[in-house]
Amino acid sequence: MKDFDVVVVGGGPAGATAAHEAAQRGQSVLLLDRDGRTKPCGGAIPPRLMRDFAIPESLLVAAPPARA
Ligand SMILES: Cc1cc2nc3c(=O)[nH]c(=O)nc-3n(C[C@H](O)[C@H](O)[C@H](O)COP(=O)(O)OP(=O)(O)OC[C@H]3O[C@@H](n4cnc5c(N)ncnc54)[C@H](O)[C@@H]3O)c2cc1C
Repeated sequence: MKDFDVVVVGGGPAGATAAHEAAQRGQSVLLLDRDGRTKPCGGAIPPRLMRDFAIPESLLVAAPPARA
């Protein structure tokens, strides 16, 4: 049996972000999710997230045309 400072139930974007933030603050974290979860997603992200999460443009599969 192990103790954790933080237990996050649900590893979607909200739970994963909470777990990541807690771990970055030095807390021991257990992140739980259901077994065999299939996450439906269109794969689209807001442009601001590229900056916020330092995602390299080389990982983009497609992008909308630049605005005039
Ligand atoms: C078909 C579809 C396409 C989408 N496409 C996009 C897209 O292209 N771009 C985009 O930005 N957003 C997209 N979304 C929206 C995006 O999926 C949600 O905004 C996002 O997942 C919400 O994050 P969340 O962490 O709040 O919840 P969720 O992602 O739903 O995470 C909740 C987690 O909790 C877990 N959980 C629940 N109950 C329990 C339990 N009792 N025990 C353990 N674990 C549990 C679930 O398994 C899940 O992993 C799409 C949504 C759908 C349905």
